[in-house]
Amino acid sequence: MKFPKEMRTYCPSCRKHTVHKVHRESKGTARSQSWGQRQYKRVVSGYGGQPRPKQKSFAKVTKKANLVLECTECGKKQVRTGPRTKKMSIE
Ligand SMILES: [Zn+2]
Repeated sequence: MKFPKEMRTYCPSCRKHTVHKVHRESKGTARSQSWGQRQYKRVVSGYGGQPRPKQKSFAKVTKKANLVLECTECGKKQVRTGPRTKKMSIE
């Protein structure tokens, strides 16, 4: 799905509709792991493998992409979930 580079939407800090630049949110890197992630790593390491089977069937085929909207008037950014699509390009 093609998504516009700019869109006119509500800005909470300006309290009105303004033109926003659209970016995709980067996934980034996890710096510290949560307790559950550390425990999972400990359980999976060594002999034995998965403690319980991985989920293979999913109700949804697609995922929602996170969009970063930057206000052109005040410069503030807000994150909003995008539409459900398999592929998304911002043009
Ligand atoms: Zn604004």
